[in-house]
Amino acid sequence: MPDAGMVIVGGGMAGARAIVSLRANGWQGPITLISEETLLPYDRPPLSKAMLTDEPEPQPVYLLDESMIASLNATLIRSARATGIDRRIKAVLLEDGRTVSYDKLLIATGAKPRKLTLPGGELAYTLRDFVDGDHLRKHLRSSASAAIVGGGFIGLEVAASARQLGCSVTLIEAQPRILMRGVPEEIASVVHARHVEAGVNMEVGTGLAAVETDGVRLADGRKIQADIVIAGIGAAPETALAGQAGLASDNGITCDAMLRTSDPDIFAAGDCCSFPHGLYGGKRMRLEAWRNATDQANIATETCSAGRSPIWLCRGSGPTSMTSRSRLREAPAMASAPSAARPVSRPS
Ligand SMILES: Cc1cc2nc3c(=O)[nH]c(=O)nc-3n(C[C@H](O)[C@H](O)[C@H](O)COP(=O)(O)OP(=O)(O)OC[C@H]3O[C@@H](n4cnc5c(N)ncnc54)[C@H](O)[C@@H]3O)c2cc1C
Repeated sequence: MPDAGMVIVGGGMAGARAIVSLRANGWQGPITLISEETLLPYDRPPLSKAMLTDEPEPQPVYLLDESMIASLNATLIRSARATGIDRRIKAVLLEDGRTVSYDKLLIATGAKPRKLTLPGGELAYTLRDFVDGDHLRKHLRSSASAAIVGGGFIGLEVAASARQLGCSVTLIEAQPRILMRGVPEEIASVVHARHVEAGVNMEVGTGLAAVETDGVRLADGRKIQADIVIAGIGAAPETALAGQAGLASDNGITCDAMLRTSDPDIFAAGDCCSFPHGLYGGKRMRLEAWRNATDQANIATETCSAGRSPIWLCRGSGPTSMTSRSRLREAPAMASAPSAARPVSRPS
């Protein structure tokens, strides 16, 4: 039987990095990357920053180009959504009816933005991919006022970008302070003050009742007029494929410290998975961060072929084993990109 090799589902940061890491670590077999997006793998951090503010309109910051993919002897299947995994015959099923066989499978399906579930929630913009960024750019630039729901990284970054464009901006956060998940109060208060200084109207500890065509209605009855409403209320791990295949999930696809799922031939990496963190007493965590996605892609792919240290021992190791001159060598494009991981751990 021919060697089916390594199949990667998800052409984001973790998926792109996995191709490079596999070859750098001597993987000889075929590599196939399945991506539902039409674009080549690109970087997401600029989407809430340069993508909204810069002129001329920025192009995607590609992580790999066609020639790099060819030089790594990998196959990229684009615009193809994986809808199932048949673990019995070791094959990924695509929406268009094709099947792709694997020896080892890496699920790197990322996360999807959470939607507002209150009345009018569907009117709010969300931001995850280049198409969202392009759409938001066009509408934000023709808006005089913006209401941003959520005081996490994405909400704050979009608020800063909107102010840079000259919009009047109100940021609404239901929690008692911004950056509640994973950022200490001292740092959050500095970020809060910086946004106030930049002219953002910060409505913290304020609930939202509804999104309306001309703004938002707060829980206390006040109306905030806005030409555009943007929700940055977090992201949910994309676990549908894993769930369909009967793999365990716990705030993301359940992995061990080496990124193995409950199936020994299937691994997961990046925003879609949770893992026990050795520096936090084995507490299960999910991290939404650029650096985590690259580290985990390295570990998962190295585990496929050889032994490797768990995630918490490799912080700072960096992308040292790259063979090609790729964007993957560098830190996130934006100087303002937060370097800290975004912990999305479950309360114990
Ligand atoms: C606007 C924005 C700004 C950010 N800024 C920063 C920052 O400044 N610093 C930082 O550290 N992190 C930042 N992040 C987070 C960082 O981008 C993510 O942690 C990182 O992209 C995770 O990589 P990933 O490969 O796990 O997931 P993703 O990059 O989301 O890639 C997953 C891919 O899988 C595809 N996919 C999903 N399901 C399927 C399927 N069934 N079949 C085929 N393909 C599928 C998706 O379409 C997507 O292309 C930001 C994220 C966003 C959205």
